[in-house]
Amino acid sequence: MTAPGASNTTAGTLFVVATPIGNLDDMSARALKVLTDVALIAAEDTRHSIRLLQHFGINTPLAACHEHNERDEGSRFLTRLLAGDNVALISDAGTPLISDPGYHLVRQARAAGVAVVPVPGACALIAALSAAGLPSDRFIFEGFLPAKSVGRRARLDLLKEEPRTLIFYEAPHRILECLQDMESIFGPERPALLARELTKTFETLKGLPLAQLREFVEADSNQQRGECVVLVAGWTAPLCEEAISPEVERVLDLLLAELPLKRAAALAAEITGVRKNVLYQVALEKQKAE
Ligand code: SAM
Repeated sequence: MTAPGASNTTAGTLFVVATPIGNLDDMSARALKVLTDVALIAAEDTRHSIRLLQHFGINTPLAACHEHNERDEGSRFLTRLLAGDNVALISDAGTPLISDPGYHLVRQARAAGVAVVPVPGACALIAALSAAGLPSDRFIFEGFLPAKSVGRRARLDLLKEEPRTLIFYEAPHRILECLQDMESIFGPERPALLARELTKTFETLKGLPLAQLREFVEADSNQQRGECVVLVAGWTAPLCEEAISPEVERVLDLLLAELPLKRAAALAAEITGVRKNVLYQVALEKQKAE
């Protein structure tokens, strides 16, 4: 095997090819050429990908590359690459490796000195971010949150003071619970956006504060269908000079002693004129410090 980092000049190339996330017109001309020209296509699910290839009249042989066989050091893909064949890696939709298989194969190929070439295209998180109107200069992608509420809340809790825009993938049957947990941990006022069915017939991009977005999804079961990306604005530090005036703090403390946090913050905002989300953050901080 070639020393790590050194290039293997007799080997083929591994092309990492993005495919559409819904609208087949998003297939690039370069992706079509590469998929036609390679000796073998490594696909997450061959039954799924065969339909895509048939649509474009591509007859290149396909082989399954999933979580289990891609870890295998002596995988058939690596053997073919080392024998000089060009191989393309595709997933069911979008960019391979992005919440999809391919990481182990790419790692092994690079370690063996095989050239790995990206053929970029659709990716749901980038498509959503590009149209969300949330800060896009710095963002983090968290993939799928844990399926169970305890794990999900623990992960969200670690992210509640993350200042960069947060991007999540979520399954439709969990979208409502996920938004409920986000609302309670990030606060009802935090700006967010649900990007659903991107590039497809029922594409929806709905940007609202978390509480309103949760209400919107709760009120319409259609919003709990299809594929979705959730974006949440990063945390901004509360305007402490506004919040820490002793008078405002006294009102908040009195209300917190009698009412749930959200209600106390809302009422304190009405009484003092300080923004509700500022008071909510201050109240959260107080609760954490107790
Ligand atoms: N590799 C893909 C990519 O580049 O985006 C992601 C694959 S991951 C298994 C599938 C998840 O991506 C879905 O559950 C959803 O969260 C998101 N996704 C994929 N296609 C989407 C679409 N058309 N609209 C919204 N979200 C989508």
